[in-house]
Amino acid sequence: MARHATAEDQTAAEAAVCSLPHQADPGAFKQAMKLIRRRRKYFFATVLLYMPLMWGVNKLFPTFRSMAISFGIWVAILFITALLSALARCPRCGHYFHMNGMSLLYLRRCLHCQLHVTADRNPD
Ligand SMILES: [Zn+2]
Repeated sequence: MARHATAEDQTAAEAAVCSLPHQADPGAFKQAMKLIRRRRKYFFATVLLYMPLMWGVNKLFPTFRSMAISFGIWVAILFITALLSALARCPRCGHYFHMNGMSLLYLRRCLHCQLHVTADRNPD
């Protein structure tokens, strides 16, 4: 008995061929990857900003109070950017891209499915 291809069979076949099995819409995949990269960029920019910020504040207002206030603001911004990047979800597996259990690692690959952070630019 010949079996007719259903819509479900067709999507399963497409998923097997496509390198992005859990993402039906390539536009949404690109968008999610861009979001992960943008949040990583903000986080690393905040980390790199620490030295020039402290140096600048020390030059302009060389008091303990101003240093403490600017350090507090920097920590708050660091916390927010780290939280945002930690909560970015991988578009392929749906888990947190930089978080596996309690460990937060800023690697260039998803901690669950090894999807590279530039997978939408140069798929392999
Ligand atoms: Zn993943």
